[in-house]
Amino acid sequence: MVNAQTLPVKWLDCWVVDDSAAITRLVGNILDIHFNPKSINLFNDPHQAATRLEQTTYTLPHLIFIDLNMPGMDGIEFLRHLAKANYKGGLVVCSGMSPRLLKSVEELAKTHGLNIIGSIIKPIKEQAIVNLVEKFILSTQDHKQQIDNPEPKILIYELIRALKEHQFMIMYQPIVDLETKRPYGVEILTQLNHPHRGIIAPDKFIHQLEFHGLIAEHTYASLEHALAQWQQWQQQGLNLHLSINLSVCMLHDLTMPDKIMALLNKHQAPPEILHIEVTESCLSSHPAALLEILNRLNLRGIHLSIDDFGTGFSSLERLHELPMDTVKLDKKFITEALQSEAYRSSLEATIVMAKRLNLKLVAEGVEDVAAWNMVNHCGVNYVQGYYVAKALAGAELLPWSEQWNQSHV
Ligand code: C2E
Ligand code: CA
Ligand code: CA
Repeated sequence: MVNAQTLPVKWLDCWVVDDSAAITRLVGNILDIHFNPKSINLFNDPHQAATRLEQTTYTLPHLIFIDLNMPGMDGIEFLRHLAKANYKGGLVVCSGMSPRLLKSVEELAKTHGLNIIGSIIKPIKEQAIVNLVEKFILSTQDHKQQIDNPEPKILIYELIRALKEHQFMIMYQPIVDLETKRPYGVEILTQLNHPHRGIIAPDKFIHQLEFHGLIAEHTYASLEHALAQWQQWQQQGLNLHLSINLSVCMLHDLTMPDKIMALLNKHQAPPEILHIEVTESCLSSHPAALLEILNRLNLRGIHLSIDDFGTGFSSLERLHELPMDTVKLDKKFITEALQSEAYRSSLEATIVMAKRLNLKLVAEGVEDVAAWNMVNHCGVNYVQGYYVAKALAGAELLPWSEQWNQSHV
């Protein structure tokens, strides 16, 4: 965790808008104790805050906490005032409403072009506020750093060279079966080992590969590499499933299932060892080609996972119309469930629904023993996260697995 005291927050102007004076005082005190901002303005009348937004003589604050349920003017209406004032600071919404409603308000704020930092469920917890303010401060620092020192984009010729010269490193993050506590499989994750810029994370190059039409080549090369590694693990007595991320661009290519089958055959790997991960957002609409491809993969025995579930708005019932057999709960889902009872209930409800629909569940982002115990207790089937292991090089899997089995099985 970031030490708030070391952060330069002397510039920070905050507003807290809530009809309850007790709440504005509480939030104000927490901000004061932890961050000692330049100014904290407390408003118990939202109209007063809205009027202030319109007065050009006042500079707008950097961060606003807004209650959603206020008599006279609710938080939703206040969002409109913020958008009209072209407010570009951070926004935190607070409410006693269900997490689902809070999420939809967050989405509404985004469509207004507002910079929503997160939401807080009442009763307000000190740590929840501290976490969000830290997140906001860090994001402004990142932003400032990016403006001062922009990171150059990876160019097409660098990507072509990286593919040709095998500069992509193929890493494997272990997944453990919670029932047996044994290693179940690995997710294939890639990094770029750039000759001048060092190790580059996937969020910096996957979009570029997609943009330049190179993602399929990268994915097939990674799978080929991973299947050769899988054969070595088999020879060492290590039986693992492989999960690979498939970009949405590849879900339109009707020849993709045959290409994947050819790679599996080449390495004598049965289709049942392969899991294809497709993000929830890619599955929100179901064009005919997507359905055809998913069904073809499924008919051949390849498993299909819904990745990053909980980051969008899809319901499991609707996603179940697709031939998916596994749901990967996004790490955000797990982190939030650890922080609040309401999110915990929403996690439990999702798990009950997944079981009813006969879907297996993987919890991602399990970082510590508290998260491990929680997902174990909730009835999740598989676990992935730093508590188990970070992504490892192929040769590290066997020693890791021996060590894991010694201490956990
Ligand atoms: P993802 O599929 O959700 O993969 C999991 C990401 O979460 C990985 O980040 C992993 O290192 C990270 N992670 C795992 N356990 C923990 C944990 O306990 N705590 C935290 N905070 N993080 C954890 P990574 O490697 O940076 O990958 C980011 C994303 O990039 C992946 O998200 C995946 O969508 C994409 N990606 C990576 N490699 C490829 C690839 O070869 N092809 C495609 N299409 N996408 C890829
Ligand atoms: Ca994934
Ligand atoms: Ca994921």
